[in-house]
Amino acid sequence: MNTSEFYDALPLKACDTCGETMEELADCYSNTCPKCKGLTFYPLSPVTPATPPSDADPA
Ligand SMILES: [Zn+2]
Repeated sequence: MNTSEFYDALPLKACDTCGETMEELADCYSNTCPKCKGLTFYPLSPVTPATPPSDADPA
């Protein structure tokens, strides 16, 4: 048994927010990937559509 096999047997950490696996991260990180930590896009408030109303004339 070598070292690589040991690390290979370790379960992958998954992001708490997006659920993506974080295999390249160190233990200093919590269960949140840097992407979710850097730019958190919590859908707390209703997002206003950037597109104009459907009754508007098409460009
Ligand atoms: Zn994430």
